[in-house]
Amino acid sequence: MAVLRRQYVEVFPGKIHDIEECWNRMNDGDAAATDQVDWALEDMSSLRLMVHSLAGSGATFGFTEISEKARAAENSLIPLIEEDVAPSPEIRSEIEAHLSALAGVSLDPDKETAVSGSSPVEAPGVRLLYLVTEDSGDRENIIEQSRHFGYDVEVFSSLAEAYESALENHPAAVVVDLTAVVGKDSVPFPDALRQRYIPLMAVAGDGTMENRLLAVRDGASAYFLAPLNFGRFIRKLEELTAPPEEHEPFRVLVVDDEEHLARHYALILKQAGMTVRAIHDPLLVMESLHDIEPELVLMDLYMPGCTGYELAQVLRQRDSLAGVPIVFLSSESRPEKQQKAMGLGGDDFLTKPVDGAHLVSAVSSRIACARVMRGFMVRDSLTGLYNHTRIKEQLATEVFRSQRQKTSLSFAMVDLDHFKSVNDTYGHQMGDHVILSLSQMLEQRLRRSDTCGRYGGEEFAIILPDTDGKAAKGVLEGIREDFAGIVLSAKDATFSVTFSCGIATFCEDDSANDLVKRADKALYEAKEAGRNRVLLSQT
Ligand code: GH3
Ligand code: MG
Ligand code: MG
Repeated sequence: MAVLRRQYVEVFPGKIHDIEECWNRMNDGDAAATDQVDWALEDMSSLRLMVHSLAGSGATFGFTEISEKARAAENSLIPLIEEDVAPSPEIRSEIEAHLSALAGVSLDPDKETAVSGSSPVEAPGVRLLYLVTEDSGDRENIIEQSRHFGYDVEVFSSLAEAYESALENHPAAVVVDLTAVVGKDSVPFPDALRQRYIPLMAVAGDGTMENRLLAVRDGASAYFLAPLNFGRFIRKLEELTAPPEEHEPFRVLVVDDEEHLARHYALILKQAGMTVRAIHDPLLVMESLHDIEPELVLMDLYMPGCTGYELAQVLRQRDSLAGVPIVFLSSESRPEKQQKAMGLGGDDFLTKPVDGAHLVSAVSSRIACARVMRGFMVRDSLTGLYNHTRIKEQLATEVFRSQRQKTSLSFAMVDLDHFKSVNDTYGHQMGDHVILSLSQMLEQRLRRSDTCGRYGGEEFAIILPDTDGKAAKGVLEGIREDFAGIVLSAKDATFSVTFSCGIATFCEDDSANDLVKRADKALYEAKEAGRNRVLLSQT
């Protein structure tokens, strides 16, 4: 880690230089003196990519100040990019202030190394975990793994102490090792922490009812068995710590042949913050599935052309919709008809007219539950990334989108080099650790709109929408370089691992399979050419 930090310190000025150059180019000449900034979405996006990358990498290497400053800069850029507007003079100077704060961060690799083992040095609340434990159990594992995921751990010996400090320092969460508190006075979980989305998470050696109950009574929002599955733990942590406004809106498809009714229900759901598509021709369902990817389908029973009974069966025959709840909404009040609908794949039956609040609550609770179930179905348990099936579904969706909107799209396949020998030399557990490091780095370095999945054992797949081959290659090259620079330490040796990558870009008429084939071929060529490289497929 120390070597890695030092390397990072060396490349940091170059990265700052690139950022400054990009910013100066955007504010070129006299334009900056007036309101007429020479505005280009492309520049703004690449500027964002650069600061985003620093936000991810800084904390990874223990430089949380870089991450903070970079994130602040990114936050000022996001609205401009999303709305495609030029920055006002105020915003411009705000961005400039963030960028110069970022450039001004002074890095001392040795100093950071010296303190990283003890108390965290970052500002309160930034990627900090409180752990209440005794000198036993999973303690070392939790501390080490947390660091790996960019969290620093501070250890406490009592809940009361941890809560008191948490109120002041705002860690991401308080994690309690249940064995440490069994038999001690229980301390109520402070409301003030709850309001700040700082959850209590319990870790225990067993899953007995007594312990689970104890955790619930202590105010825990999650319960995990030791040794911790960190991929899952971090997912849960991120889910619990995101304020509700950051949750992705629920997506609902409404099918009702009566146009005004479809619109009426859609409006009620939209007002509750959901994303809704309403259609009144049931035969158009298939097309809207790709558009909205509904998490729930709300449908009428009697429609011309195709009844709700039939439509439910059609949907249920698609594997990808297996977990999507179907809620019937109909004036049909005869129990036997309602039961028939439920027997054909419906999850709920609401009778028209339905009260708005009731509709919203029935729909939200079903989707919330389906999301949890789906999380287990679509994610890989080691890394928490999308699994093979899910990433291929996502690729099909993105291909469809690119075809329709004529946007660019890249698909990358990544495979660890000589991974078998890592397992053979350092053990399977170390192998898992390497897989986890790469998945973590990919998640931190890719954009929100990119999707990353575990394609197979030591193989990953990445979808980069709105990205041409050259840009995708740039991104993956950066990650390849940084990953290869990580020095891993086993018992009495240090080593590094590299990966090879093949990238395919979308051309008109490509299917998802065409992209996979080309990326795979490029990956094979990268391996043949000596590994540790990124190759772009020639189309
Ligand atoms: P190449 O550079 O050609 O890709 O060589 P390689 O050794 O990486 O490729 P190969 O396909 O021969 O071996 C892949 C190894 O990855 C074999 C398998 O045991 C290991 N592996 C697959 N999944 C996991 C996993 O989840 N954990 C660990 N530790 N190892 C895994
Ligand atoms: Mg391999
Ligand atoms: Mg392989």
